[in-house]
Amino acid sequence: VESPYGGSLEDCRTRPEKIAKSDCDDNIGYFIKKKLCVWCRLPSGLWELGTIQSTSGDAALVSLSSGNVIKVHRVELLPANPDVLEGVDDLIQLSYLNEPAVLYNLQCRYSQDMIYSKAGPVLIAINPFKDVQIYGKDSIRAYRQKLTDKPHVYAVADAAYDEMMTDDVNQSIIISGESGAGKTETAKVAMQYLAALGSGSCGTEHANAILQTNCILEAFGNAKTSRNQNASRFGKLIEFHFSTAGRICGAFIQTCKLVAQLENGERSYHVFYQLCAGAPSTLKERLNLKRASEYKYLNQSDCLEIDGVDDARKFHILVEALDVVHVCKEDQEHMFSLLAAVLWLGNISFRAIDNEKHVEVLADEAVTIAAMLMGCSSQELMLSLSTPEIHGSKDSIVKRLTLRQAIDARDALAKFIYVSLFDWLVEQINKSLAVGKCRTGRSISILDIHGFESFQKNSFEQMCINYANERLQQHFNRHLFKLEQEECELDGLDWTKVDFQDNQECLNLFEKKPFGLLSMLDEESNFPKANDLTLANKFKQHLNANSCFKEEKGSTFSIRHHAGEVLYDTSGFLKKNRDRLPSVFFQLLSSCRCRLLQLFTSKELKQFQKPENDSYQIDALDPSKSSAGIDFKGQLFKLMHQLESSKPHFISCIRPNSKQLPGMYEVNLVLQQLRCCGVLEVVRISRSGYPTRMTHQEFAGRYGFLLLEDDLPQDPLSLSIAILKRFSVLPEMYQIGYTKVFLRTGQIASLEDKRKKVL
Ligand code: ADP
Ligand code: MG
Repeated sequence: VESPYGGSLEDCRTRPEKIAKSDCDDNIGYFIKKKLCVWCRLPSGLWELGTIQSTSGDAALVSLSSGNVIKVHRVELLPANPDVLEGVDDLIQLSYLNEPAVLYNLQCRYSQDMIYSKAGPVLIAINPFKDVQIYGKDSIRAYRQKLTDKPHVYAVADAAYDEMMTDDVNQSIIISGESGAGKTETAKVAMQYLAALGSGSCGTEHANAILQTNCILEAFGNAKTSRNQNASRFGKLIEFHFSTAGRICGAFIQTCKLVAQLENGERSYHVFYQLCAGAPSTLKERLNLKRASEYKYLNQSDCLEIDGVDDARKFHILVEALDVVHVCKEDQEHMFSLLAAVLWLGNISFRAIDNEKHVEVLADEAVTIAAMLMGCSSQELMLSLSTPEIHGSKDSIVKRLTLRQAIDARDALAKFIYVSLFDWLVEQINKSLAVGKCRTGRSISILDIHGFESFQKNSFEQMCINYANERLQQHFNRHLFKLEQEECELDGLDWTKVDFQDNQECLNLFEKKPFGLLSMLDEESNFPKANDLTLANKFKQHLNANSCFKEEKGSTFSIRHHAGEVLYDTSGFLKKNRDRLPSVFFQLLSSCRCRLLQLFTSKELKQFQKPENDSYQIDALDPSKSSAGIDFKGQLFKLMHQLESSKPHFISCIRPNSKQLPGMYEVNLVLQQLRCCGVLEVVRISRSGYPTRMTHQEFAGRYGFLLLEDDLPQDPLSLSIAILKRFSVLPEMYQIGYTKVFLRTGQIASLEDKRKKVL
């Protein structure tokens, strides 16, 4: 075969050995003769374009585009695409789909500010880290009126809207990517489009209110990290509900675990700094508010301000948004009091007594003000923090806490107040955006959830996040690969089995009972004597049979995730999983004068039946109560349930460089992300497959009238075959299944053409 343009995908992720066997390798003579371009892997690992000058044995002499000539092994060569394909919209159009070709195509587009590309059914979005002029009213109108078909988040949202309206099926837009890749911004762009579409005369107010929720949720749920100045510390699913006429009639937000503990050295949640910087002086006085630098919870990090961000201004925007979603002034005042209370709680300190064995609370302004803001007596607060009284079924005893226990108790109290406040706020927003009467309509959900994380040291939070990503990956796999394959096989098609990595084994590692990570973590959390090392040993004892688990030294272990291997350290796992407010605080909080605190406590108590023997739960997890791990799984399942009952649209966000700078494209960083999200695999399947499917009834109904009288068979299947023959559709362009016709890209368009000519 002379022509090398067969196109085969070399995907290192699933078949690293295959990189050696390229089209180029097979046709090297052709490449030399025609002076065709090849990709040449340099010793640095980077790829450069060049042409082959000569070969001898396994070595090839390549003249590179930089002017250098280099001798390489022929396995380092891959075919490059012809110039005419440079920067195509959809990777599917590339003749060669090897990694350098995909990377170069995306880079070529990125350098011209074309941040969106398609990979078959998936939209790839590369973070520009600067304003690109592709958003706004005019652009929205262009996509709505189908004046452009350039890849864009608007196009995805538009397709979702149209499918919802015509097929009467709920839709979802699933946005994935690592931290800093641009998920939250992408979600906002999609929201903007839907809000513009669905806001007729009556939907405008709703649409505006929904957009305002972003700044509230970001203030309370986002913080600056080393990777992203505005990193979301929670996952979010926002449902837009539409009336049958296609107007927005409400929205509903679900959140997934707020990671309340931030890494040491990282800035805390934005809202604290906004409050300290922006509260009007009267409010500051009422709350006894000081500068952010005076609070221990904030000044532990060396970052109090973010370049280019005016926290005081943000505070005013926050208050305006709270007004829009109808959080009344009185509740706003309560919220701010509780935020200040959290900050003051962090400043409470302890003094050692009894030969350093126990502690008492230092009676300073921190404890006085915290108590004042919470609406309790400082005496009670001090006692609960150092020598809580435990009411048993018969009598009460007083327990004296050690310094470590007292600090943990204080932090648990602060965290409880903050997390409850966040949940309450989401509830208020949902009430205000309530869908009300028109729930019968349809919805589009947008999911923005933390992407896969892998640091040098990974803890409980990373494990939860990565678990969620495994679930999402399975949803993605199932949808794009499994369903595809199953459908073809069910219909009796000759389908060369698609090899993709199913991650069920990894999910089993987390979810199996009783020997899965989450169940075993809960079990250990119930043993007062368990510690992080016994936990790690337990994992090693029971999980070695799972191929995704890898034993490591001491308190560590590794998980082989779809996106790569991650090393976890169980230090702190038990404490983070127990994660419950010591019950002594329920007494304290329910007696507080602050309305919100009473509400939070009664909710918590309702949720978990009060145990008979109300002991001080600091060392063990009460079996009747739930745990952080199980809570997370519950929230995740709720989200997944919502997603599974809808038609998904996928957007993969890519972080082009680790410096958060515009115009910089780090090839290896991009490549690793493309591998993680399975984009290369998607392209291969979409291209080799038959994207258009129609039942024989549909197909015959639509094109049957084009047949001549005398070749009309009776049954739809024979009709389909007759139609295909009549129009000389090439045999490799279609397959006939039991129930459906499967067509390659482009075939339906030419049939439609013929149909139009006749009509
Ligand atoms: P993620 O949610 O994936 O962690 P974000 O959406 O918060 O990431 O994006 C991180 C930063 O990147 C944003 O604060 C913004 O500065 C920049 N960014 C992301 N997407 C865009 C975009 N489409 N246009 C301009 N800047 C963007
Ligand atoms: Mg985010």
